Amino acid sequence: MQGKDRLRDILRRIDGRGYKAYKDIEGSFDFGEYILLIDHVQGDPFAAPSRLRVKVPQRIAGYPADTYTEGSRRIALGDYLTRVFWEKCGRYCRGIRGTGKSGLVDIDHPGQEILERTSVMVDDTWVEARFFVGLPAAGRRVLSREANQIFFGEIPQVVKDSLLFSRNPRDELYHHIRSAQDQDLLRKKLDELGLVAFLANGSILPRASGVDDRPLTKGKVVAFCSPLSLKIEVQLPYRRKVEGMGIPKGVTLIVGGGYHGKSTLLNAIQLGVYNHIPGDGRELVVTDPRAAKIRAEDGRRVEKVNISPFINNLPFGKKTDRFSSDDASGSTSQAANIMEALELGATLLLIDEDTSATNFMIRDHRMQELVVKAKEPITPFIDKVGQLFSERGVSTILVLGGSGDYFDVAHKVVMMENYLPRDATQKAKEIASKYRAERKKEGGNTFGQVGQRVPLPDSINPSRGRREVKVDVKGLKHILFGRSLIDLSSLEQLVDQSQTMAIAASILYCRNRLMDGKRSLGEILRLMEREINENGLDSLSPRHLGNYARPRMLEVGGAINRLRTLAIK
Ligand code: ADP
Ligand code: MG
Repeated sequence: MQGKDRLRDILRRIDGRGYKAYKDIEGSFDFGEYILLIDHVQGDPFAAPSRLRVKVPQRIAGYPADTYTEGSRRIALGDYLTRVFWEKCGRYCRGIRGTGKSGLVDIDHPGQEILERTSVMVDDTWVEARFFVGLPAAGRRVLSREANQIFFGEIPQVVKDSLLFSRNPRDELYHHIRSAQDQDLLRKKLDELGLVAFLANGSILPRASGVDDRPLTKGKVVAFCSPLSLKIEVQLPYRRKVEGMGIPKGVTLIVGGGYHGKSTLLNAIQLGVYNHIPGDGRELVVTDPRAAKIRAEDGRRVEKVNISPFINNLPFGKKTDRFSSDDASGSTSQAANIMEALELGATLLLIDEDTSATNFMIRDHRMQELVVKAKEPITPFIDKVGQLFSERGVSTILVLGGSGDYFDVAHKVVMMENYLPRDATQKAKEIASKYRAERKKEGGNTFGQVGQRVPLPDSINPSRGRREVKVDVKGLKHILFGRSLIDLSSLEQLVDQSQTMAIAASILYCRNRLMDGKRSLGEILRLMEREINENGLDSLSPRHLGNYARPRMLEVGGAINRLRTLAIK
């Protein structure tokens, strides 16, 4: 390690030289209160900004052990400090000055969820922050004066004002980490309570807009309130007594008139697999972590998935126990999405009529009369949802305003009325016995097989042009993997672009280290998850990247399954 004056000397020496001269500052420098590591210097002012880290020794940072020695707290502390660091960059850094990204100082920017990240990590010895700097240039010439200002003026201020325990508002910091810990505990309790989801009274479910995930504040906002019959009380270490609606395992139907808040409720449930920041409104909305949102996704690629529980006897004898398509239909894609989720261990399916294929969901009596079963390949979900639970223990929450036939198979019916839930189970059952559904049950007496598929590593090719590995993340929902574009738009539980970054790295990790032509996809993902649990997200890359956030294995598998070149043994 070199002294910080050494950095000053180098900068003085390279002033006005070509941009490549910046390479000389790669290395580590002792700033007394912290170490500055310049890991990677960008090739030119327009390229992705340079990657830096600071490491503050705990003896200076001063975090009490109870802020980071337990998993939930450690993750929440990293999240909190990332937010503070980001905010202070905005306050102390002058921003763009010069060509391209010159002068930018930036760190990963978390949204409403609290995710495990590599941006700020805390342990017994260090507080480490990883961030990005656009090394300043005029044209393509080094601007040492501006660089000096960043390294010796701005960064020290940001570090001092964000990473030291004593500089942070103690109550707010503890509130952040304790409420995250409560959420994790509550989520863990679901199973023993026999629930798949819990929504605390007082929660705010609607969002500001379709593109703004912050809570709705405009107009009249109705806070969540459980009907008495579904009300559950839980004790949490921090929040103490919490009341709310428990959704039991089994088949739950969410019904109600259009615009009464059904999808809003389901959307909150599907993101209840993550912790949320204080003030989000969904801090105490928690869901089975293995919940999978399922939707129709016509046009997607499907590779050798056994969709026979739902689809059989396709025209011209096309097989469905190893069904492949480069352009799946609404119903086959929805069937494949379910079967893939089951293969990866999903224990709760979340389905919304708004994004489902109608012919996949229901086939009523009259249609059964007109189109005889022998001519209809699809066994609708209504005939399988009960078996999924009784045979495989997989629950379903279903938003459906359009078909009362489902009353027969639902264990609970929740009716949304003016944004508030009511327990309509009794009423629905009465109606179901008064007006018999005339439809015949289809699809046999058991659910059918869920396959375990073995991916072939050679079919996953990250090369493009002369580069052996060229993988780029394009926004939240696209990965350009080698020459193929993976479209993740239908993975609605993917919430952060840094998760997408980690997914891209995960695909490479799986291909290079775990896929051997023998292991199943489920097994591969379990092994990778174990590795991340033990050694953190850095297992995915040796490069100390600051923009990984933890994805669920359901989304990693979802991305692999959508890779258009994927071949299954
Ligand atoms: P549905 O799926 O029943 O048709 P949505 O869930 O799409 O209805 O909700 C319709 C509209 O009502 C949305 O714009 C949503 O933001 C708003 N909304 C939902 N829940 C609430 C609530 N609790 N308070 C205020 N507005 C809400
Ligand atoms: Mg809706």
